[in-house]
Amino acid sequence: ARSAAVANATQSCVSRDGVRIEAFANLGSLADAEIAMAHGAEGSGLLRTEFLFLDRDAAPDVQEQATLYGQIAAKLDGRPLIIRLLDIGGDKPASYLPMAAEENPALGLRGIRVSLARPDILDQQLRAILSVVPYGQCRIMVPMVASVDELLAVRQRVDILCREMAIGHRIEVGVMVETPAAAVTAAMLARHADFLSIGTNDLTQYALAMDRGNPAVAAGVDGLHPAVLGLIALTAAGARGHKRWVGVCGGLASDRLAIPLLLGLGVTELSAAPHFVPDLKALVRRLSIAECRLHAEAALQLESPAQVRALARRFEEGLS
Ligand code: PEP
Ligand code: MG
Repeated sequence: ARSAAVANATQSCVSRDGVRIEAFANLGSLADAEIAMAHGAEGSGLLRTEFLFLDRDAAPDVQEQATLYGQIAAKLDGRPLIIRLLDIGGDKPASYLPMAAEENPALGLRGIRVSLARPDILDQQLRAILSVVPYGQCRIMVPMVASVDELLAVRQRVDILCREMAIGHRIEVGVMVETPAAAVTAAMLARHADFLSIGTNDLTQYALAMDRGNPAVAAGVDGLHPAVLGLIALTAAGARGHKRWVGVCGGLASDRLAIPLLLGLGVTELSAAPHFVPDLKALVRRLSIAECRLHAEAALQLESPAQVRALARRFEEGLS
């Protein structure tokens, strides 16, 4: 299986009708970057930076962060690396962050809200990312955005730090769409963002008001629920209006039934689990995006996740 995966690693990711799709991998460590490269990832659409911040007494300083981001970027050998700003919250506490116990941590101080409440931590992370050369390989992604103002605040800090650090290159700042608010206002966000990337794990949790980690509702937490598909369609339309690309970095990007629907809705970048990248590329090569569009239009008419999954299975069976 390993040699098949490696053979696949060098293959391209272009649909049958000639549409280029970026096959990226999600990373949570330096080791992941190695695995992703061995499996032919064309970059990373999500580096989860929390691993650097958890289980310790103080936040990592600029130097420590810069070294690690630089090592991961080097492993990717010039390919894009999308670094997500710290996405920590009441459910993943860090002793050095003043976070009170919350009754609803998923609705509390987490993601970009923590970074904006702690400008020192935000600036240290931005400085570390901005110090990675070559400039432009690393892009910045903002988690848990619910308002345009949050994006603008980060963009402003990036611009100020770039001036301070004498960086002439424009560093891209994108938004993770994982709240219904972000999906509904995607067109406004896309006006100011360089890209949008849909975090379908949280988007599903918040759209359905179902805790993604609660086994009692696990069966209902399905990213192919019509409500989630509708929010993805809104996000893609919002991005398209401002000629921004839209990707998916949540679990749906590693779901073979979901991928044709996502591409049919206008997604052009998928960031999947590293081991899934060869399968992802092989699937894209069998797809016609024109057919995926019709498929997605049909799916948007359905009334339950079960109906969407049944349609998606028929679509998959019909692939040559
Ligand atoms: C998501 O919410 O879909 C996502 C990719 O982020 P995480 O799983 O780290 O919350
Ligand atoms: Mg998330």
